Amino acid sequence: MATTLKKTDVAVIGLGAAGGVGVLPLTRAGLDVVGLEAGGWMTPRDFAPDELKNNYRGWPQAIQKANREVPTHRPNANAPYSPRAAIHPMMNGVGGTSLHYWAQSWRLNPWDFRVVSEVTKRYGASRIPKGSTVEDWPFGYEELEPYYEIVEREVGISGKAGNLNGVKDPAGNIFEAPRKSEFPMPPLRGTEFTDRMGETAKKLGWHPFPGPAAINSTTYDNRPECQYHGFCSRGGCHVQAKNSTSWSTIPKAQATGKFNVITYAHVTRIEVNEQTGRVTGVTFVKGSEEFFQPADVVLLAGYTYENVRLLQLSKSKPFANGLSNNAGQVGKHYFSHNTSWNVTGLFPFDINNWYGLPAQGVGVDNWADDNFDHSGLDFIGGGLLWVYSDRRPIAAASMSTFGQAPSWGVAWKKFIKENADRWNTAYIQKTTLPYEDNYLDLDPNVKDPLGMPVTRITADFKENERKSGEFMQGKMEEWFKAAGATRVQKGPAGTMGPSTHAYGGTRMGDNKETNVVNRFGFSHEVPNLGILGGSVMGTSGSRNPTLTVQALAWRTADYLTKNWKSIAG
Ligand SMILES: Cc1cc2nc3c(=O)[nH]c(=O)nc-3n(C[C@H](O)[C@H](O)[C@H](O)COP(=O)(O)OP(=O)(O)OC[C@H]3O[C@@H](n4cnc5c(N)ncnc54)[C@H](O)[C@@H]3O)c2cc1C
Ligand code: SF4
Repeated sequence: MATTLKKTDVAVIGLGAAGGVGVLPLTRAGLDVVGLEAGGWMTPRDFAPDELKNNYRGWPQAIQKANREVPTHRPNANAPYSPRAAIHPMMNGVGGTSLHYWAQSWRLNPWDFRVVSEVTKRYGASRIPKGSTVEDWPFGYEELEPYYEIVEREVGISGKAGNLNGVKDPAGNIFEAPRKSEFPMPPLRGTEFTDRMGETAKKLGWHPFPGPAAINSTTYDNRPECQYHGFCSRGGCHVQAKNSTSWSTIPKAQATGKFNVITYAHVTRIEVNEQTGRVTGVTFVKGSEEFFQPADVVLLAGYTYENVRLLQLSKSKPFANGLSNNAGQVGKHYFSHNTSWNVTGLFPFDINNWYGLPAQGVGVDNWADDNFDHSGLDFIGGGLLWVYSDRRPIAAASMSTFGQAPSWGVAWKKFIKENADRWNTAYIQKTTLPYEDNYLDLDPNVKDPLGMPVTRITADFKENERKSGEFMQGKMEEWFKAAGATRVQKGPAGTMGPSTHAYGGTRMGDNKETNVVNRFGFSHEVPNLGILGGSVMGTSGSRNPTLTVQALAWRTADYLTKNWKSIAG
């Protein structure tokens, strides 16, 4: 039988990028908060520049919860399962995946909040792809802007403004939405190669810029600046220059004296009062013991797959199909970012990519969102072209031979020796939309070690994603060739397996028939249950999600503090 703990004001499930930010406004407002985190504390000493450990063995997970519940995937309801991924991309630990992510920290564009109305206004309603369930967000960019500002300061973001209160500056991204103030830190420095790519983009008439990153370019909050040493992709930062919530917002919340972190706490259920239908707290397993943490309010922040799974697993009399799922919307409107259709260029000279990090790069936004005229095109949206610095030995030796050498033997070795530092793969994030037949549910056959079903992803890219993918590959090919690439190889489409950028499943919107949470992130059906993370987002834009996830988390927590009595009951 579960041991019942002392009641708290708010229980937060998961202390990653979202939960780790949400706890700060709550504790500053004087609420007692318990954070239930499946992983443990990690220190800079836990992180090493070790490609095998970080990129192939699924470390640094303090525990392997995520790896034991990797979602299964099938492209559609009639297709066979895809091979199951060996490791989960996400991290268990205080700080969650913000410990080992790339830390690119983008704001969305105004267009991303209003895809339906903007497309309809400019091109007509028929341009919304058939079968897509995309909706406008319940509010626009202006509503989230103040929260972007707060989070950029509290977490620590480097970058260069390209649109300060409507005044454009070509040193930054002129396509970005208006910002009220400059970034807290200047951008990360460029490299010889990213400078070359930037100059080339200018010659093409495009607008290159250094991207924003949650990485210190100068000393910030008593932590040092980045050492640009590399091994940063899926590697934690040994000097704390990468601004994980583990050493940015979480310690600040602890300093209030109102925050109790319970580590190695694996939440298995969110409990409800069967008479009122309100949440009463959460059940978790720590070691071999079970506990019940009572709380007036529960905030769910376990990343998209776990947010959806925990709701689907938490069945009760008032919620026979899963918590907050009487309208049947939990798991719906799921999508993951389209980062397939990549492009690799081979250059006839070394590009010195053996140091540096993926957030240190040059971006081009001319072809993102609706920054260009789609009248003569057959898709909506677009992509962000991102060229960055990052090279590790195993990845380098696994390079394509571009059809110029066999993939074994002496000739292969000679080719790799000559070309290991002569190629670059661009990262192209493209608009992806939700569709009626892309969704998450509980796998009927595959279970985790506690005997609970894992998430099953049923999803694939559709026509709009394919067309924008091909279009963006064309633009990237043009950029690489203009910069001197002698060969360019275009990557395949791929499908929508477990993703680091997973959205939807508990979408936010005013209409409770098509959305799980309201405009403030609280459940339409369970007033004292809030949800933090990409699972509430209905569109992705052309850029990584985390800063938006964190701004939304702050906004939800802020709303809770200002409406405590009505929400907590
Ligand atoms: C290699 C990599 C690179 C990335 N690069 C970028 C980037 O450059 N920019 C960007 O914007 N995004 C990036 N991302 C994505 C980014 O990491 C996520 O958007 C972000 O971490 C999501 O925040 P979250 O809080 O929802 O999830 P997480 O940060 O994963 O946190 C979830 C937390 O919940 C805990 N948890 C899960 N289940 C339970 C449970 N049942 N009980 C208790 N605790 C639980 C987990 O242990 C974890 O700590 C990257 C991701 C990866 C893997
Ligand atoms: S490259 Fe910079 S941010 Fe990345 S691990 Fe090294 S010092 Fe930290």
